[in-house]
Amino acid sequence: MAKKKILIIEDNTANMELFNDLLELEGYSVLQAVNGKDGFGIAESEIPDLIILDPGLPDVGRIEIIKRFKENPGTKDINLIVCTASIMEEERKEMIDAGCDMFIAKPIDTREFPKTITRLLQNSEKGDRDG
Ligand code: MN
Repeated sequence: MAKKKILIIEDNTANMELFNDLLELEGYSVLQAVNGKDGFGIAESEIPDLIILDPGLPDVGRIEIIKRFKENPGTKDINLIVCTASIMEEERKEMIDAGCDMFIAKPIDTREFPKTITRLLQNSEKGDRDG
């Protein structure tokens, strides 16, 4: 069976390495982008199963990039997780309204992180089967 593909869009090197290593250990194939422009390009060409997005990117605002993924027919069905240190309710609500599927808090819990990702992927697979 083909490995599931996860795209990480994150401009912080330490976070990128941590997420990458945890997901590769879990058996996923990882794609990386350090800005929104590259992230969007990779998402369109590779159609990953899931995107982990840092909302604080150098080249694009958090709402703008979420909308760009969710309003594009080629990328709108990709699971989109926002990984953020912000606990501000208003910010989170804006991102949910824009189409974000789930939040993971930064700093991540390294034991829970891969489990959460796997659970989300399994649930979305089940959703596909059930129509
Ligand atoms: Mn950032």
